[in-house]
Amino acid sequence: MLPRLRFAPSPTGYLHVGGARTALFNWLYARRHGGTFILRIEDTDVQRSSWEMVSGILDGLKWLGIDWDEGPEVGGPHAPYFQSERLERYRAAARDLLAKGLAIEDEGAIRFKVPPGKTAFTDSVHGPIEFDNEHIENFVILRSDAHPTYHLSVVVDDIDMQVTHVIRGDDHISNTPKHVLLFQAFGAAPPVFAHVPLIMGPDKKRLSKRHGATSVMEYEKQGYLPEALFNFLALLGWGTGSDDELLSRDELVQRFTLEGISGGNAVFNTEKLDWFNHQYLLRLGDDELIARLRSRLEAAGYWRDALGGADRDWFVKVLGLLKPRAKKLNEFLDQLAPFFVDPDGYDEEGVKKHLSSSGMADHVRALRATYAAAGDFTAPALERDLRALAENRGLKAGALIHATRLALTGRMVSPGLFEMLELIGRDRALARMDRLLAHLAEGA
Ligand code: GLU
Repeated sequence: MLPRLRFAPSPTGYLHVGGARTALFNWLYARRHGGTFILRIEDTDVQRSSWEMVSGILDGLKWLGIDWDEGPEVGGPHAPYFQSERLERYRAAARDLLAKGLAIEDEGAIRFKVPPGKTAFTDSVHGPIEFDNEHIENFVILRSDAHPTYHLSVVVDDIDMQVTHVIRGDDHISNTPKHVLLFQAFGAAPPVFAHVPLIMGPDKKRLSKRHGATSVMEYEKQGYLPEALFNFLALLGWGTGSDDELLSRDELVQRFTLEGISGGNAVFNTEKLDWFNHQYLLRLGDDELIARLRSRLEAAGYWRDALGGADRDWFVKVLGLLKPRAKKLNEFLDQLAPFFVDPDGYDEEGVKKHLSSSGMADHVRALRATYAAAGDFTAPALERDLRALAENRGLKAGALIHATRLALTGRMVSPGLFEMLELIGRDRALARMDRLLAHLAEGA
């Protein structure tokens, strides 16, 4: 039988990286073996579940490219299964155990009667695990308000949906003997369990908001690429057994095994994620990069249709200049500003440091005149002209470069000045030099 796996989030929060990693491992295993991957929303806790959280989870999965099979098709892709639509089924299952004498009524609730003995299972990650039933109390499966507990609904669904493998967080190990007991009571074979170690922050404490973003869509907002987060998450607690790290979706599918899941806790290292993101950014084709940046460019007011048309070559050169340093899409936006708009102010520390010495304004004025008259407004020529002028005036070229960078960008740091000058173009560059000179005159 082909494997059937599920991701079963409770919609009491957004999709966080731990949940996404669990979904991903289940998805990879299902895809690896040509099996089925089910999405089941465990929303029996009506108080704590909300539609907003459900759609947040769906958005996160879709953004990562984790697609699911089955579920009702409502005029489009599959809808997930919702436990809230199956309450009658859980009630019937509880009554069934009661009728068989495997459960008892207790103040309106139904409790599973834990038999004596031991409950054992073999975990694919941790090996054989055994619990003494003495330590498991008769646990509630149906509350007095007729709502099922997690233990009941999860087992009934895993049976009904013929789930063969359950990959989930380590924090569920203590629930597993209860689940195994319920599988046995229903006369069903338990699935294969693989409990994945938790994700830790760099301080070796359980990953939480304290460590920065944990919601998947927060990473989208910060400008991470879904394929980079996908690759990074796949290697969080799972390894190929080799040093290969940059792996495409297909390669990950080909190589995923339960044996590769590590028993030790995984540490979430943001620098590593940034490295992955940078690598994936470098590998994007020019038009693809433009497409990925587009909504951000629009939001910043930089987008114009020509960027995809007449100005495309110019824009590709601009992006080429920024690429070596950009780790996230958002960083492009910040660095793109000088190519689209005049500086809205000057780094005052930079002005003090690079422009306060006497004669500096005059040097800038001279460079402006040189650039106004230059026959060739390309990076190498602009650099040659600047260096020649500096030498004539007994000035360090660096001093003039810093001053010109401030004029052009308002900042102390930027990509290569001469490439920027060429791409910003003569008219805008000269106008910005004039603006800086006016600013200096005001301050004097
Ligand atoms: N709804 C449970 C959770 O979010 C699912 C656990 C399981 O996979 O069985 O933790």
